[in-house]
Amino acid sequence: MICLGIESTAHTFGAGIVSSDGKVLSNVSDTYVPPKGWGIKPADAAAHHERVSSQIVESGLLKAGLSSKDISLVAYSHGPGLPPCLRKGLDAALRFSKENGIPVVGVNHCIAHIEIAKLFTKARDPVVLYVSGGNTQVLSFSEGRYRTFGETMDIGIGNALDKFGRSAGIGFPAGPEIERLARESRKYIELPYTVKGMDLSFSGIVTEALRKLKSGEKLEDVCFSLQETLFAMLTEVTERALSHTGKDEVIVTGGVAANSRLREMLETMCRERGARFHSVPKEFSGDNGAMIAWTGILSYSSGNRTVKPDIYPNERTDDVDVLWLK
Ligand code: AMP
Ligand code: MG
Repeated sequence: MICLGIESTAHTFGAGIVSSDGKVLSNVSDTYVPPKGWGIKPADAAAHHERVSSQIVESGLLKAGLSSKDISLVAYSHGPGLPPCLRKGLDAALRFSKENGIPVVGVNHCIAHIEIAKLFTKARDPVVLYVSGGNTQVLSFSEGRYRTFGETMDIGIGNALDKFGRSAGIGFPAGPEIERLARESRKYIELPYTVKGMDLSFSGIVTEALRKLKSGEKLEDVCFSLQETLFAMLTEVTERALSHTGKDEVIVTGGVAANSRLREMLETMCRERGARFHSVPKEFSGDNGAMIAWTGILSYSSGNRTVKPDIYPNERTDDVDVLWLK
């Protein structure tokens, strides 16, 4: 089976082609970048997706050296995400399915981030730290679902970094630039540390970091302190999930998994606990079509059928029965 996966939940429209033996044949995308100083306007991102969708799908096929006739399944991200953006992905998937007479399957975007990481890292039953723009969760599989052990109580970690970046005059996405600036400092400025039980809160920390910047602290020092604080919080909750579940593997996935300092902290924690640590390859850390294609294959092969293709903007990771895992 060869599956075309379509991703469109937020800023990125992606198309990936994956075969059922787990080979990524192509993975292309185009990301909507809002004007400087602005966040994502859902309608503008959706207009972007509409504009690029045919060309991205075409280029996915071309890169894979395939024609649409070679595709036997089309998968799309059915949620969670921004409704106007999700709808563009659904439209593209339905169009492709109709034109080629092949089945269409809807998949959960967060689970796709987990499954693509497992495909590349060969992790079998890990504790998952899922860190992206809109989502931050510590998860692990138990009794048919990925269960949430801890999560953000307000914004996702990536959004927190981007929000800081926006007000600090850094372009979007801010995560990579904050990482670069943080490397130029070793001065830690005290910031609030907000872990409540197993849950996390980021927005107050961003506000305080911006206040420090206004009061004259150097941008590099604030970026360093922001990373140290936020990533220590994530590492603490991941460690406790590891201890609670008794598992011995951790994977990190999602756009923020590209960050070397976060990986380093998690790696140190895992080494000290005798657990294995893996990170999703950078190319597949942010939103991408390949993760949707691979999860579509897993879902379809385990008997899932999407009878009425639709969008589910608020579907949680732990709402989904994961039929392909026992
Ligand atoms: P996603 O929603 O999974 O596509 O992830 C996008 C988020 O990842 C954005 O908020 C980016 O700022 C963030 N991001 C990308 N690269 C890095 C990095 N190197 N360090 C921290 N955050 C990053
Ligand atoms: Mg994502």
